[in-house]
Amino acid sequence: MSARNYHPDTLAIHPELAGGVADGFRNLSTPVHRTSTVVFESSSRFKDRKRESPWVYGTFGTPTTRALEVQLNIAEGAADTCLAPSGLAAITLTYLAMLRSGDHVLVPRNVYTPSRSFATEVLPQLGIESDFYDPLDLASLAAAIRPNTRLLWVETPGSVSFEVCDLPALCALARARGIRVAVDNTWSAGRLLKPLALGADISIQALTKYHAGHGDLVMGSVSCREAALGEQVRRTRNALGLSVSSDDCFLVLRGMQTMSLRLDELGRRTLAVAHWLAEQKLVARVLHPALPGCPGHALWQRDFSGAASVFSFEFAPSVSSEAADRWVDRLQVFRIGASWGGTCSLALRMNVAADWPVLRGQLVRLNIGLEHPGDLFTDLSDAFEALAAEHQDVTLKAV
Ligand SMILES: *Cc1c(COP(=O)(O)O)cnc(C)c1O
Repeated sequence: MSARNYHPDTLAIHPELAGGVADGFRNLSTPVHRTSTVVFESSSRFKDRKRESPWVYGTFGTPTTRALEVQLNIAEGAADTCLAPSGLAAITLTYLAMLRSGDHVLVPRNVYTPSRSFATEVLPQLGIESDFYDPLDLASLAAAIRPNTRLLWVETPGSVSFEVCDLPALCALARARGIRVAVDNTWSAGRLLKPLALGADISIQALTKYHAGHGDLVMGSVSCREAALGEQVRRTRNALGLSVSSDDCFLVLRGMQTMSLRLDELGRRTLAVAHWLAEQKLVARVLHPALPGCPGHALWQRDFSGAASVFSFEFAPSVSSEAADRWVDRLQVFRIGASWGGTCSLALRMNVAADWPVLRGQLVRLNIGLEHPGDLFTDLSDAFEALAAEHQDVTLKAV
């Protein structure tokens, strides 16, 4: 304790000068270290800060952000994980860390749409070329590889249409040519699929979805199999000034404690809904990798350890886009929204990319949440009944 008498204004800023807080407190939650500035014991320590301490500045991380990165290393089997402000930021950070002017990247046709847009709209400005490949056709991928191809993106199952690709085969093909593989592993929450163990270099997550688990924040992560690659990603992230809030990390760490339970139960409830949907007259096809009609079902059985809660179904070709929209609008418990993986059930009519014409009917993506399953079934069957009544009118008029 200092002998000086400090003004209350000063002590409000320096509680340590008033004696600090009690030591020896033990509890179960990760402390939230909010900070912009990190303080140092001496000028020389500050000068050597990058060598002296893992804690340098707010944007570079705090013990709270590091605690989350360590949990993700464990979950993904990674040497190093780097957090990003959103799932999309984790994707764009990976592109920027892995590619230089003159390089070429291959992106799957069924990729998350903003990832596709970044490849076509931003990368050309940096002198980086991209091409799109069919993730279900290894020969077409092999033919698309160029001497300057440096990165292969994979998303499995694919966004919106949910095909599962042969990830180990894609990785083997890329590795034989010295090409790095990055996988958007958001569907599996890093739990149902382990891309790094199957040969990928990078696994990215939108922690926004199952990890946070309650629809109340956005965050992403880039997990790398090798420490050197992790360092390359971290250097790029720090150069870009991308950082995450320790408060949000606290919420993700809390969500991760119950994620396994949520995923297991959501998987069970989702399969019940998916199988029921497959029986409906006006449904042509259910696109969930756990159902036999979904392309890559056998690969899902081989490589995945469970079912996630987001999937699509295709209406019969006779259902118009307007009728499909009305079906979605009639739902009362399912809400209309994009960011799945939380506790709330969602429905959204979606389109696939023009170069991925795998569908004939209108497509609706569903996320099953944790509402009582009975209410979800009632909601869906009411919407189908109304659609069937409408449909009969339309069919009669046509006759
Ligand atoms: C949601 C999502 C993202 C993006 O995550 P945000 O945190 O919303 O930016 C990326 N990839 C997939 C497959 C997603 O579902």
